[in-house]
Amino acid sequence: MRLSKLYMPTLREDPQDAEIASHKFLLRAGMIRKSASGVYTYLPLGYRSIRKIENIVRDEMDKAGAMEILMSAIQPAEIWKESGRWEKFGPEMFKLRDRNDREFCLGPTAEEYFTTLIRDEVKSYKDLPLNLYQIQTKYRDEKRPRFGINRAREFSMKDAYTFDTSPETLHTAYMNMYEAYEKIFDRLELDYKIVEGDNGAMGGTGSHEFIALSETGEGVIVYSESGKFGATEEKAPVEYILPQAEDKKDLEKVHTPNASTIEEVANFLKVDQKKCAKAIDLMLGDEPALVFIPGDRELNLAKLVAYTGTAEHDIRMMEDSEIEAIKSKPGYTGPLGLDVRMIFDKRITEMDNLVVGANESEYHYINANYGRDFEGEVVDDLLLVAEGDKVPGTDEVYKFARGIEVGNIFKLGTKYSEALNATYLDENGKANYFYMGSYGVGVTRSVTAVIEQNHDDNGIIWPISVAPYEAIVTIVNTKDEEQVALGEKIYKELEAKGVEVLLDDRKERPGVKFKDRDLIGIPLRITCGKKSGESIVEYSTRREMENSEISADEAIKNIL
Ligand code: ATP
Ligand code: MG
Ligand code: MG
Ligand code: MG
Repeated sequence: MRLSKLYMPTLREDPQDAEIASHKFLLRAGMIRKSASGVYTYLPLGYRSIRKIENIVRDEMDKAGAMEILMSAIQPAEIWKESGRWEKFGPEMFKLRDRNDREFCLGPTAEEYFTTLIRDEVKSYKDLPLNLYQIQTKYRDEKRPRFGINRAREFSMKDAYTFDTSPETLHTAYMNMYEAYEKIFDRLELDYKIVEGDNGAMGGTGSHEFIALSETGEGVIVYSESGKFGATEEKAPVEYILPQAEDKKDLEKVHTPNASTIEEVANFLKVDQKKCAKAIDLMLGDEPALVFIPGDRELNLAKLVAYTGTAEHDIRMMEDSEIEAIKSKPGYTGPLGLDVRMIFDKRITEMDNLVVGANESEYHYINANYGRDFEGEVVDDLLLVAEGDKVPGTDEVYKFARGIEVGNIFKLGTKYSEALNATYLDENGKANYFYMGSYGVGVTRSVTAVIEQNHDDNGIIWPISVAPYEAIVTIVNTKDEEQVALGEKIYKELEAKGVEVLLDDRKERPGVKFKDRDLIGIPLRITCGKKSGESIVEYSTRREMENSEISADEAIKNIL
């Protein structure tokens, strides 16, 4: 492809609302454009990288024995109502009606859709197991679309669904996908961790998340280096706790309405600012975070401030009458009205007068008692650890990291087949529910994870497997016939040999060409400059950026 013909609207300036590198560079390199909040157009270079990822995913899915199909992005409401997720997804689902007032949604995922497809088609155990997938646009009306195509409202996801006859064969299918995912993310050259996840709204009996490590990630994981221990923040049987303030005198200040900065909170609690920031980070996700802290009221309040004390949150204790008022509100669902999965240390169940709260001001309670006011899963060994603590029974320590969730696999069991009454007939002619799994890869999000891990100040540094083009030939001065002739010759030879190659034949200043080249991040580069008459070029890689003067033939050999 000739840059003189390529639609590549690069930008010199950093776009204003781009907070992270991938968002900034995708815009600046002319790879994506925003159409509406969380809705993007993929331009030629960006779309090529997206398709590269799609094809890697497709290749590994096919090799793993999965079969590609394509279901509509529009899904009928009935199946979501049957499974109970029409309500559960809530405002995150884009809902619509046709001219006859029939309700639909734009699919945020497709467990129900695939289940009903198989329910109506597969009758016998002889047709099982099955593994079907699609690469389809998904829609989620995210509360906070951000970071460009990292958290978009329209995005591309590969979603696969397996259908089996028993928990054991489901496990085999699940591990088959687990391994396929390792191959996919290895081929994307991502630095990632696999951690146990929380099944959340998906339901089922087990899950793993594939997390590309990045400080800009919205997820927090706890892991050990060998991979022996790994869990998402929600799932981890660990809770980051702050050391307690030393004596009550220190706690007086809590009664001022807010500690509005991490510094204030950290100073007040006499704890390390970084630890404090981490604790606040952990607790202030998009999800309501619950903190359960035994002890007396003042101390609890101090801790709550530590966890939730930002300017946005009004931290104060609620009066008993206010709690009563909340409890008597219509729609109050649980002991505390909070629909959140909770794991408790057994010790918590034996303590009185806990402070419980989420990161919203309406949700703080004092004098709460386990059993009477809240319930959850009780475990014997909820560990209260900080980063660097030893993982029991190993030589390793717990590490905390941020990352981008690029993939998620779930054992669903019979949750959806039961809800949608999807059965097959076994050897004895008896109807049984399918054992299901579901498996997602964020295709467009993976592009952002690759860039977060591969960039410098000047732009993207694509790994070959995801690069929109593998090589670029730059003609420094298009008025110089020798340079043009050599550039054209190399370009044509590489193209003939099947290399995906760009030729910068634009009538631009060299500075512009070099800047653009760094920005769009093509991995292998040949520069045709002053020595073109002698067939000498400069060869470099985007990662090393070091030029070597070699013959054109040698440079071509390097690329092939
Ligand atoms: P998150 O925790 O980031 O909100 P999720 O757990 O809700 O993601 P899943 O339902 O597990 O997402 O969907 C499978 C995959 O789809 C995710 O692992 C992620 O890579 C991708 N994905 C989910 N939401 C978005 C989004 N808003 N924009 C881009 N990709 C997304
Ligand atoms: Mg989500
Ligand atoms: Mg998630
Ligand atoms: Mg997920």
